Amino acid sequence: MIVVMKQGATQEQIDHMIQRVEQFGLRSHVIYGETRTVIAAIGEKRDEHRNSLESGPGVAEVVPILAPYKVASREVKPDPTTVRAGSLAVGDSYLGMIAGPCSVESEEQTVSAAKAVKAAGATGLRGGAFKPRTSPYSFQGMKEDGLKILATARQETGLAVVTEVVADTDVDLVARYADVLQIGARNMQNYRLLEAVGKQGTPVLLKRGASATMDELLLAAEYILNAGNPNVMLCERGIRTFESHVRFTLNLTSVPYLHDRTHLPVVIDPSHGTGHTNLVTRMAAAAVAAGADGLIVEVHPDPETAQSDGYQSLTFDQFDELMQLCNKVADAVGKKIVPNKE
Ligand code: PEP
Ligand code: MN
Repeated sequence: MIVVMKQGATQEQIDHMIQRVEQFGLRSHVIYGETRTVIAAIGEKRDEHRNSLESGPGVAEVVPILAPYKVASREVKPDPTTVRAGSLAVGDSYLGMIAGPCSVESEEQTVSAAKAVKAAGATGLRGGAFKPRTSPYSFQGMKEDGLKILATARQETGLAVVTEVVADTDVDLVARYADVLQIGARNMQNYRLLEAVGKQGTPVLLKRGASATMDELLLAAEYILNAGNPNVMLCERGIRTFESHVRFTLNLTSVPYLHDRTHLPVVIDPSHGTGHTNLVTRMAAAAVAAGADGLIVEVHPDPETAQSDGYQSLTFDQFDELMQLCNKVADAVGKKIVPNKE
């Protein structure tokens, strides 16, 4: 942390703040500038004394310099993490390709989608059985029946199942069927749920809240990591902005930004991130070019009749085209889309 003193702060105030910094077990390094003095507070402890220091006499502000997250940070683990779950490998040189319907609607719908995305080269299957819907009157998902269908689809195709859990009380149930537990955007800051999936141990796909900052996303991941689960993938799925031509604004800056700060793999969701079928493939390719470690894409046998998110879902043929394009871009950036063998 840097303690920035006000212009004209007295030597007595500066000495007092040096003493305070040292009382907290931090080393102080004072820089006397032309108009202001700053005290660098150096040590392992990060933000915890920030508020106290900020209310000290003659202090203008306290600026954190180390990231507030620890276990997620590159400072603590410089090498990139590869998350493996059944057929899925995500991170480092592996580009995980997760595809499937927004919601599980029937065995035929999900199994046919699983077979089609597998044939096109996907390495994981998505499908929501517990759906967090904006309206209580919308389809809420098939719940455990949906999980059973996902298990059948895994049996038929060998694809790892990625599915959402919306409540801490459902974690054990969903984990019995899932290879990856998805935490949705609406639940990114549901800390009891984060702790529960952290304790449970199944790999997690953590989606960024639509209005969450990067630090909030990383601190949410920190909850899962701290609870003992090292297998966390971060997912950018678009944020709320003033732009109304797209459902959400897909922030691809997240990929290089997060790669600089965390060892955790970064997955991009170009389906929710755009909200329009015709934008998905090109944004998927752009995400791969930016260095994404995975994609999660909505694919439906008949988008027109989908119970949720049909307007952003690809047909089987469209997904096949997406895969062909993303394979070329992946090649160019040194990533491979292959099933996990370990
Ligand atoms: C989903 O993946 O279907 C979903 C509900 O996503 P999000 O949580 O990003 O809105
Ligand atoms: Mn959806």
